[in-house]
Amino acid sequence: MKYKNRVRSRISNLKDPKNPGLRRNVLAGGIELSRIATMTAEEMASDELKQLRNVLTQEAIREHQMAKTGGTTTDLLQCGKCKKKNCTYNQVQTRSADEPMTTFVLCNECGNRWKFC
Ligand SMILES: [Zn+2]
Repeated sequence: MKYKNRVRSRISNLKDPKNPGLRRNVLAGGIELSRIATMTAEEMASDELKQLRNVLTQEAIREHQMAKTGGTTTDLLQCGKCKKKNCTYNQVQTRSADEPMTTFVLCNECGNRWKFC
């Protein structure tokens, strides 16, 4: 029962227009949304679902890592405020997946934040 609810919430994730990456991954993996919705218990254990679960797990790990680390520490970027080279940067997809990533930089010394292109 618990599991069923989880699957259902994931299906709604897949339909989320704000999450096109996930949907694309699932489609790329050859899994149709209508198929997921009509899967029986036996089919849940099929390769298809394992594949889907794999995709979802990878997405979750990526999101988790982003949130946890909050970026990559570097000494290649210099802070314009304190001139120190102790920064953390984060690459974020701001609008659509077709557009280049935006790099947000945070100075670990003085807390200065800026956008780096
Ligand atoms: Zn600084």
